[in-house]
Amino acid sequence: MMRKRVLVTGGAGFLGSHLCERLLSTGHDVLCVDNYFTGSKDNILHLLADPRFEVLRHDITFPLYVEVDEIYNLACPASPVYYQYDPVQTTKVSVLGSINMLGLAKRVGARILQASTSEVYGDPTVHPQPEEYRGNVNPLGPRGCYDEGKRCAETLFFDYARQHRVRIRVVRIFNTYGPRLNASDGRVVSNFIVQALRGDDITIYGDGGQTRAFCYVDDLIDGLMAMMGADDDVTGPVNLGNPHEIPVLELAERILALTGSRSRIIRKPLPVDDPTQRCPEISRARQLLKWEPRIDLDEGLRRTIAYFVQKMQGAEPPRASNDDLARAGAAALRGAV
Ligand code: NAD
Ligand code: UDP
Ligand code: UDP
Repeated sequence: MMRKRVLVTGGAGFLGSHLCERLLSTGHDVLCVDNYFTGSKDNILHLLADPRFEVLRHDITFPLYVEVDEIYNLACPASPVYYQYDPVQTTKVSVLGSINMLGLAKRVGARILQASTSEVYGDPTVHPQPEEYRGNVNPLGPRGCYDEGKRCAETLFFDYARQHRVRIRVVRIFNTYGPRLNASDGRVVSNFIVQALRGDDITIYGDGGQTRAFCYVDDLIDGLMAMMGADDDVTGPVNLGNPHEIPVLELAERILALTGSRSRIIRKPLPVDDPTQRCPEISRARQLLKWEPRIDLDEGLRRTIAYFVQKMQGAEPPRASNDDLARAGAAALRGAV
């Protein structure tokens, strides 16, 4: 394997920290760039001792001059609560941030991968969503800053490829979960697990009939790296997600069962423009990347629950492998709930 210098923007976030870890373990040098808006130093503390790991506090809406071989552009708040907190900044991260990272890729000749999203399909009328589907996005609503920002980023990536021959890859990530999800960012998996473990009410928005399909983080990281490693003619977009679709209410019931919690399920209003259905069509990823998810929902949830149990008990950020974590967490859980 050729040792590369890899830049990960948003590297202190949920997906970014797992990616940094995996890249280091594969033997690469990693430069993690993050402004800690939604990410956290805790997520990367265990990597700091590695001399091949470097961290830079920086906001990618401002130019960045470094020398690297590959760029994973993950910087962007990903949960509706955080991306709607400062919507103008959210659009700037996707648009100005992408321009800067593409300018950097162009100058140094790096490959660059964009973490796009299933939100480019909006509230989809085609189901499941193939890459050819052009989407149903409301540009004026509260999700517009994220959805349109990411759509514009895709446009920029394809224009830099056509106009400047930049070697791009675009992946559209569907709901992904796992250890290091930010407990306070309001995403459904972390919300339900934390509520269940605390014995608080489980908050279902709407009637819980809306569907999502949840991919475990390790599978997603495999997909990101397979995409980066693909031939340069594989530009994407490629959907990455787990095609096992379930209603949100069923997710709540599974989490209640796995935690043994006695929390009640309560209803809250459905947020504006909340997509009613979402599920990836992944035949393109299967064919081009030979990739598909391996970890099923119950197994992924067990590992994620184990992480939150440890975190809520005030333990050090987990350094163990996911398997060790699951075992330790399951043991702790039996005493905790
Ligand atoms: P996250 O919020 O945990 O990570 C995003 C990281 O970007 C954070 O560490 C944050 O501090 C950093 N960041 C935000 N603005 C920045 C800026 N201006 N400059 C530098 N750093 C900045 O979210 P995540 O789930 O890890 O998502 C990572 C990427 O994947 C995002 O681009 C997101 O849109 C995309 N994505 C994630 C999912 C998912 O389900 N997790 C789904 C679709 C797309
Ligand atoms: N840029 C950067 N790092 C680099 C090269 C460029 O941050 O190593 C930024 C630069 O500030 C510019 C943007 O990327 O605003 C786009 O660069 P490009 O070369 O495409 O455009 P130009 O400089 O011609 O506007
Ligand atoms: N949701 C919910 N209760 C919560 C958080 C989210 O019912 O406490 C629902 C939300 O309305 C949406 C789905 O779960 O239908 C997924 O929400 P999330 O914010 O995780 O991501 P999205 O896919 O909407 O970007």
